[in-house]
Amino acid sequence: MLRFQTSCYRSYFRYFVSHYSVTKVEKPLEKVYYTKLFINNEWHNAVSGKTFPTLDPSTGTIITEVAEADKVDVDLAVGAAKCAFKLGSPWRCMDASQRGQLLNCLADLIERDKVYLASLETLDNGKPFSMAYHMDVGETMKIYRYFAGFADKWHGKTIPMDGNYFCYTRHEPVGVCGQIIPWNFPLVMQSWKLAPALATGNTVVMKVAEQTPLSALYVASLIKEAGFPPGVVNILTGYGPTAGAAIARHMDIDKVAFTGSTKVGHLIQQAAGESNLKRVTLELGGKSPCIVLADADLGQAVKQCHEALFFNMGQCCSAGSRTYVEESIYNEFLEWTIEKAKTRRVGDPFELDTEHGPQIDKEQFDKILDYIKIGKKEGAKLMCGGERHGDKGFFIKPTVFADVQDNMRIAKEEIFGPVQTVLKFRKLEEVIARANHSKYGLAAGIFTKDLDKAMHLTQALQAGTVWVNTYNAMSCQTPFGGYKESGNGKELGEDGL
Ligand code: ADP
Repeated sequence: MLRFQTSCYRSYFRYFVSHYSVTKVEKPLEKVYYTKLFINNEWHNAVSGKTFPTLDPSTGTIITEVAEADKVDVDLAVGAAKCAFKLGSPWRCMDASQRGQLLNCLADLIERDKVYLASLETLDNGKPFSMAYHMDVGETMKIYRYFAGFADKWHGKTIPMDGNYFCYTRHEPVGVCGQIIPWNFPLVMQSWKLAPALATGNTVVMKVAEQTPLSALYVASLIKEAGFPPGVVNILTGYGPTAGAAIARHMDIDKVAFTGSTKVGHLIQQAAGESNLKRVTLELGGKSPCIVLADADLGQAVKQCHEALFFNMGQCCSAGSRTYVEESIYNEFLEWTIEKAKTRRVGDPFELDTEHGPQIDKEQFDKILDYIKIGKKEGAKLMCGGERHGDKGFFIKPTVFADVQDNMRIAKEEIFGPVQTVLKFRKLEEVIARANHSKYGLAAGIFTKDLDKAMHLTQALQAGTVWVNTYNAMSCQTPFGGYKESGNGKELGEDGL
């Protein structure tokens, strides 16, 4: 295990000194990374003994090595989860309210260690510290608390069926849940999956993304500290085609919940079908439209469309990655949009005023730069950005393309990076058809002051979430999920149960 990097410590010390007038912070130097597999409330090396590196995306250097789980480790974790789910086990005998208390306790421990967790997230993922602290860790605590409240309020019904019978439904846990999560919001994605599964009494085998294992493993240590019985939560680090695929195909896993690319979503569903027909929920990719009508508050629309795309360095499944602007305001909108992108502060994610950090890894970095090349070749007009920022790490300058056409690859395919494509439209029905002409249907944004048009658009757009005069307004109380190849099933809210 490695110690926390001194430079990170310095940056976040500065943050606290300047923002909260704090003169002394808990020393991360005294903390250590968790790097092993968490099975049955114990830390294990992979059976193979293999490890793999996790990198700091702002420098490209190795932070530490973590255990590389494979099929045999998945088997061990599933064995532990199955045992913890047995009738008569402490978990199955536990009062539902006690499950809720454990989740609340976990949230309290996350709150206790929120500075450290946010630093870990920034170090491993590259997102700006202020975002990791306020958004990622803040939301994570809320999600555990929200679902904690449901633990003893999730009940069935008595049904007045015909005949002389007493009929009722009972909500039962599914069993062992396999959960596979991505790297863009490591803590939040972990909470989206763990919290409802645990509130309703399931046991879990989770594989976290190979790019960002550290915060999830730290939460595993808090799960143990909170007092969850052994085997209820098992957290594995490893690669998708090995450990991930073993989860999707496992005969003793009753459900798999996956967040990631549409390509892998297809594989997960196929594996479930070819194995034990386990239940599948999928939260996949997107190419979400933002539609700006001529009557919109222009300043507000520019700002929201900018954040819709550049938030989290464009690494969001719900990113508003097609900006449709009505012809009469197109030029002005574009001018403001370019100005906004040019002034976005890109840099060291531990610096206080940084808005935009690096992409997650070299693979994503190269993929995004390739898309920029493709956009130029296809005839879209590069208005700003379009190249790397600095000379180390995986930073890309906020990029805006104008005069984008629907048939260009940059307008059709998910780039998952800081590349905003701006398209022109004339008529409402035209933009509805164009916005819906996508294999994805995760989210959409509408900008207008006309209530009739807003209502018409919210119903006409094929998207799981439609925001009006805002974007990415997400909360634990609100269900989230996609249409078409953006996935199936809902997360968050009561529907998430
Ligand atoms: P991205 O391209 O954004 O990394 P992926 O869909 O490849 O998205 O990865 C999301 C999660 O799915 C990660 O935890 C990854 O390890 C896992 N994964 C990747 N390939 C597979 C697979 N074949 N089977 C199961 N899980 C996979």
